[in-house]
Amino acid sequence: MMQESRVKFAGLAILVVAIALTGVAIWKTQPTGERPLVSVMRQPQRVMGTTCRLIVVVPQDEQRRANEMLDAAEQRLRHIESLCSTYIETSELSRFNTGQIDQLGETTGLIANLAHGFWRESDGAFDVTARPQFQLWKRCAAEGRLPRKDEIAAARELSHWQLIVWDRSIPRKTKPTVQFDLGGIAKGYAIQQALVSMHEAGAVGGLVDVGGDVHCFGVTADGGKWEVGLRDPFGQRVLFHLKVRNRAVCTSGNYARFVEIDGKRYSHIIDPRTGMPADHVPSVTVIAMDATTADAWATALSVLGPSGLEMLPEDTEAMIVTGTSDDYDVHTTPGFNGYMGKFEVQNSKLE
Ligand code: AMP
Ligand code: MG
Repeated sequence: MMQESRVKFAGLAILVVAIALTGVAIWKTQPTGERPLVSVMRQPQRVMGTTCRLIVVVPQDEQRRANEMLDAAEQRLRHIESLCSTYIETSELSRFNTGQIDQLGETTGLIANLAHGFWRESDGAFDVTARPQFQLWKRCAAEGRLPRKDEIAAARELSHWQLIVWDRSIPRKTKPTVQFDLGGIAKGYAIQQALVSMHEAGAVGGLVDVGGDVHCFGVTADGGKWEVGLRDPFGQRVLFHLKVRNRAVCTSGNYARFVEIDGKRYSHIIDPRTGMPADHVPSVTVIAMDATTADAWATALSVLGPSGLEMLPEDTEAMIVTGTSDDYDVHTTPGFNGYMGKFEVQNSKLE
């Protein structure tokens, strides 16, 4: 049974230092007699509208193959972006949303199918069919006003899972008004697919980072675990590092993305059950076996808050920050602390 623990960052600092000291010996151990490893990094420009970092680890004498692996990984990311972006008018998802097609293709359909699973698991908190509600908030923000109750109700009627039928596991809409927004899951899926391509190509280790959402496998060039920096939910600096292997780490938060209406910030994450922004959770970080799960649950927990920690699937850990920069709480699943690595800010007071 998942037990929630409430701690302040100051308390975590002590714990983290202790874990880091005991962990070092294990992480630096590399089996003897192995070929030396090198890591090759690439930072492709503007993937999914954000920063990107790809790393493959290969034996030194196979370094030539690293570039092919990076090409393949980058291509997977860009391919999934070209299918799922709602900013690209000609993407498959845009054509589905505007009614040019009423059924998705195989890859996009699979992502929507996975999204449907997360909708069920999260009791409706994660809902990619709620795009008309997301759009309503954006439109009202541009007009500088809050949406009216009747507008929210109307947006909810336009698109929901009951208006979808499944045709060989691929969703087809039964009403033209249905729209999907895969913004809370497609990045994670793309990251995971890019990582799978590195693994299939024979890399010893690899890491895919798109906008701070990360999935890694295998070892680093020195045979250790991967370090993933976690940012201050109320600022930009890295507070501490997680030490992970064969895991994904995704963060959702309204500190970076929000709309402003009448001087007040509203989250870009909407509770589809009420049509209201999920404003009580500034930041959620999820560690999962794969990036699709981590991405979807980070968004879902932004809606559910700490009570959602009980609903997480097996082998999934999370940290939720609630409150404001002056008065915040940190809620973690017990297993989360086991991933804590180096603490970057020794005096751990948030900004
Ligand atoms: P993320 O940054 O992964 O949390 O994704 C946020 C994006 O997911 C938003 O910009 C919306 O496009 C979409 N979204 C917002 N609220 C939800 C929700 N409740 N369920 C699924 N997707 C959502
Ligand atoms: Mg997400």
